[in-house]
Amino acid sequence: MSGFTFPKGGIHPDEHKELSEHLAIEEMAPPDQVVIPLSMHFGAPAKPLVKKKQEVQEGEPIAVVEKALGATIHSSVTGVVKTIESRPHPTMVRCDAIIIDRDPQAAPRIYETEDWRKISREQLLARVKDGGIVGLGGAGFPTHVKLSPPPSAKIDTLILNGAECEPYLTTDHRLMLEYTDQVIEGAKIILKILGIKKCVIGIELNKPDAINALTRALAQDSKKDDFEISAQGMQVKYPQGSEKQLIYSLTKRAVPGGGLPFDVGVIVQNISTTVSVYEACAMNKPLYEKVATFSGRAINRPANLKLKVGTLLQDVVNYLGGTRDLIKIVSGGPMMGFAISALDVPITKTTSGVLFLNSSETDLGEFGPCIHCGWCMQACPMGLAPKEVALYVEADKGHLTTKFGIMDCFECGCCAYVCPAKRPLVQFARLAKIAVKKHG
Ligand code: SF4
Ligand code: SF4
Repeated sequence: MSGFTFPKGGIHPDEHKELSEHLAIEEMAPPDQVVIPLSMHFGAPAKPLVKKKQEVQEGEPIAVVEKALGATIHSSVTGVVKTIESRPHPTMVRCDAIIIDRDPQAAPRIYETEDWRKISREQLLARVKDGGIVGLGGAGFPTHVKLSPPPSAKIDTLILNGAECEPYLTTDHRLMLEYTDQVIEGAKIILKILGIKKCVIGIELNKPDAINALTRALAQDSKKDDFEISAQGMQVKYPQGSEKQLIYSLTKRAVPGGGLPFDVGVIVQNISTTVSVYEACAMNKPLYEKVATFSGRAINRPANLKLKVGTLLQDVVNYLGGTRDLIKIVSGGPMMGFAISALDVPITKTTSGVLFLNSSETDLGEFGPCIHCGWCMQACPMGLAPKEVALYVEADKGHLTTKFGIMDCFECGCCAYVCPAKRPLVQFARLAKIAVKKHG
């Protein structure tokens, strides 16, 4: 099997996936209380549909976004709304949230599966919207919008992102192994919505069991749907799973600077999102549960957990037996994730994992001056000059960095990873982008 890849830069960080890649997805018992933020998608915050002391059912819509980009939010438990107030949020510091006390007597909601083939594309798209589905691999862009490209876009290929190139994270790997049929059916639903035939599932070659499982299931698929779906191995190289690199690896099409995948006829969906699309369309189940990896050498029991949106990180830590020698908590992967300072934040729709890192996994040393080795330029998959950007920012000239293509930086962290002077090049890149925007 050939391993497709992208042409420029990239790195090979230690994978650390051995901590959790062999652990089957485990369902965590629902907590006594959930804290459901009104912002956990790209776009406007949702407005509550419920009031204090109101009873709510598992899966019931509790907040909506009207007349703006956003996604509906559903209750993840059956219970009573305790209050609606500002609470800590993993990315926004604080955000209004609906706090629900779970009814311990309530039975879990059961969903029947129906044949999505009998449902029209318009109705399937409406189910994706009503189910509050958002991109689970990143910023939470509403999926119903992504699946409605402008008529001028000539989409011919759906790519499912099974690269999962961030170290430690194993959620998509486990979903491809344990939810293989749902991934394939979800892909078919998306193809039907888009009105196209071709789907490529891109998977890094460090997940041969997932490639085999999908290839076998596709070969044995007895439902004779008129789609061309294949699983394709890709070289193990970070950031293989970022959209532009993934699209180039699998189609040799280059998304132009400032462009979007649909400019080259492609729509990309993450594996977790595809499973959620299946559940919304074939089961009428909204997105209020998710699978996430909890790993790192400071958590007593690493796991791939299926848990309720709104579960507090403290409840997860208690469930996994606590921590030892904990130095740093990171939401997401170590390359593109962000540090969390407390455990009172909830799991949101877009939490792909949380890492609990000990002293052997963190480097808190000071950074030094640039020694002009050029390694950051070799590592950058966008062909940028991170060292120049950093020097400009330090000289308070960040607004002049567009000549280095700073707006194409997607903060993958390759440059900072290889820098021998430990310079915080991603932070410099962020500051440069802020300066460029400020100066128009
Ligand atoms: S963070 Fe930006 S500048 Fe650094 S390697 Fe990634 S794309 Fe290039
Ligand atoms: S890798 Fe670090 S030290 Fe080397 S050129 Fe880039 S910023 Fe300078």
